[in-house]
Amino acid sequence: MVGHVTGVGGAALVAGRFDMRSWALICAASGAVPALVIALLVPSLVRPNWLWVLAVVTVSSAVAVVVTVRVGVLNDRQFMVLGSGGMVGMAVSAFAIADPAATTAVGAMLGVVPAIAASGPSRAITASLTAAALVLAVVVCVDGTDGAVRLVAVGAAITVVLVPTVLMASLRSSVAAASTRLEAQAVTDPLTGLLNRRGLTAGTTALLDAACTSGTSVTGCLVDIDHFKSVNDQFGHTVGDRVLVGVAQTLRAAAAPAALVARLGGEEFLVLGLVPAMAGVESTILRVLRESGGVTVSIGVARCTVVASADGGSDVGAALDTITAAADRALYAAKSYGRDQAAYATAAPVSWFATDGS
Ligand code: GH3
Ligand code: MG
Ligand code: MG
Repeated sequence: MVGHVTGVGGAALVAGRFDMRSWALICAASGAVPALVIALLVPSLVRPNWLWVLAVVTVSSAVAVVVTVRVGVLNDRQFMVLGSGGMVGMAVSAFAIADPAATTAVGAMLGVVPAIAASGPSRAITASLTAAALVLAVVVCVDGTDGAVRLVAVGAAITVVLVPTVLMASLRSSVAAASTRLEAQAVTDPLTGLLNRRGLTAGTTALLDAACTSGTSVTGCLVDIDHFKSVNDQFGHTVGDRVLVGVAQTLRAAAAPAALVARLGGEEFLVLGLVPAMAGVESTILRVLRESGGVTVSIGVARCTVVASADGGSDVGAALDTITAAADRALYAAKSYGRDQAAYATAAPVSWFATDGS
């Protein structure tokens, strides 16, 4: 029945065109059709003169199905209207049915709509549909009952609405939390917590947009730990890893909050930001590491002019390559001048089409 599901929550597409919520609503609303057919075959199932009510509910449900099929992915407002209409239909159908067992069964279906709502992102909609379902389920279940039976019916009605809704809501929030965690992991270097290459690429797009909008150049500092191999050789890889984490923290602390700080691989890092925010960053990094008495680093600093392009071209990979190639040349120079210092280069201008249209 279900084709493929992508993503989480309201935007997750099921069987191509529908999200999970629309799909579930179609299934739930379609359930009204058999009730009318059964009532036509067995008229005694319905209270005298109530068959037309069942017919109206069935037609309304059919309209809800058609609307949902046409719309595909319902927005919150459409879902709210169709969901609450569906619940009223279920409650009325439960009343229309003469047999108490069948009434209870139809009343239990009221738990379906808030559970569907809980699969979507809006807590307000889930809360209001849950409240409405509780009221309707209790009203339907107490009809024709008394004393202890009535108490049992009310308890069952509340349980049948709340349990699936709470389960669905907590499932949704765990999936959303796991998805957020995975998204963060996908852009983070696990050892240092800095951005990895993927995170750097994503951040660079926004940075170049900002450079274009503000007419500012960008500066890239390529940082490489000096003689790091000998740290590993002398003290082992675990200590080497700790050194990498320490250098990463120094870079993050030296850079402005808006600057991107990434581990490119091994013992090589890139700090990338707009020129004003990057002023003096390389000197701070060199000074802090010297003062800490551990490893030193060499830094290749490349300044790059960002030229606003009108033709829609914006290749972030090529822009990063341009900046890092120049920074790499400068880094090579810093190493050959004796390490523990910065050297400078100018990158070729990068042509960029800002996504906000500037
Ligand atoms: P230079 O001053 O010329 O940069 O010399 P270097 O020793 O720092 O550079 P080299 O490229 O010769 O060695 C880099 C070392 O970094 C070699 C490799 O074992 C080590 N390394 C790379 N990734 C990691 C890592 O994740 N953890 C640890 N502990 N070491 C790593
Ligand atoms: Mg090195
Ligand atoms: Mg290196």
